[in-house]
Amino acid sequence: MKKTVKDIEVKGKKVIVRCDFNVPLDESGQITDDIRITSALPTINYLLENKAKIILMSHLGRPKGEPNMKYSLKPVAERLSQLLNMKINFISDENVVSDKVKNAADNLKDGEILLLENVRFRKEETENGAEFSKELAGLADIFVNDAFGTAHRAHSSTAGIAKYIPAVSGFLIEKEVKFLGSAIENPKRPFVAIMGGAKVGDKISVIDNLLKKVDVLIIGGGMAYTFLKSKGYEIGKSILDTENINLAESLLKKADKKGVKILLPIDIKASKEFDNNSETSLFDADKISPDYMGLDIGPKTIDLFSEELLKAKTIIWNGPVGVFEMSNFATGTIKIAEALADSDAVTIIGGGDSAAAVAQFGFSDKMTHISTGGGASLEFLEGKELPGIAVLQDK
Ligand code: AMP
Repeated sequence: MKKTVKDIEVKGKKVIVRCDFNVPLDESGQITDDIRITSALPTINYLLENKAKIILMSHLGRPKGEPNMKYSLKPVAERLSQLLNMKINFISDENVVSDKVKNAADNLKDGEILLLENVRFRKEETENGAEFSKELAGLADIFVNDAFGTAHRAHSSTAGIAKYIPAVSGFLIEKEVKFLGSAIENPKRPFVAIMGGAKVGDKISVIDNLLKKVDVLIIGGGMAYTFLKSKGYEIGKSILDTENINLAESLLKKADKKGVKILLPIDIKASKEFDNNSETSLFDADKISPDYMGLDIGPKTIDLFSEELLKAKTIIWNGPVGVFEMSNFATGTIKIAEALADSDAVTIIGGGDSAAAVAQFGFSDKMTHISTGGGASLEFLEGKELPGIAVLQDK
């Protein structure tokens, strides 16, 4: 267990908090979804109530290690100010840390907030450069990491800084570790994982780790075709990760050995083009016509998967089971979300596209936990120790 802000004295201390304020912006620079900001509020409010001097930092987008005002945290400063109903002292310094910033940090009063400029304006950030880590640490007495979304990256602001000042976790990281950790280590059974999305390569090691933990593994989405192909099925023009066919085959064998039940799609909604308006046809999963590509699971598969999900007591879901962004291929993903929403299992959504799908179809409040980190939750499920969490003090 990692120490949290509650385990240390913060009153009157300068506390630098790494948040994940990497919010989506529209073309005019307006924030289109502020969940990442609201997710950071419990920690910020705790520090305000306990009279800390608060310094906030985050990255936004990929400014590629140089100042680029398109990625300035100014809109975040404005939204934070609205949400907290207080002044946020934002210093848009191209260097992120400077004498002016250091002065502002030193002059903070208890319960005041200073927001730094995008940490990725400095190229040392993603290289975990010692100098930048020291500069950040030099602003404060305590480091709090609350950016779960970047906890799988060893950067100056997520890990390097912890070499120089005491480091503890914020409430968001605490919550993510609690839900993802207990689902993986101590699940109520049956424990079912459902994996989808396009990239098998990214998820092979997650599947490998999940096979040690789950009772049932359901595979849908684009990645299913590599598994179907490994069984010698005709998958037509469906997305295929040729490099990983053998690996898929060996994962199926491994599951069999371990007594883990694997469910693959049995019927497929397919189309000739990757286009919502293209004519669709249903195929058995082993006989997709050569000029068709599978873009969603079919109705028999929806029933098969839903039946299994309704028996589960713990469900982890990562990745849509079809191209849910196109309405004609969203049914499978909607039905899976519905099955999770109807189930009385602990339901954990592993960030990224499945979180977006659950939100888009209005099921967010029916899930036990929706992770704020796509990549981070995947690495967590792979059983890896995340660098931004590893550096925090143990209880
Ligand atoms: P990932 O980033 O690997 O989780 O993949 C998410 C993407 O997978 C989404 O944008 C889906 O549209 C896409 N996807 C799901 N099913 C398929 C499919 N059958 N063919 C191609 N892409 C798919």
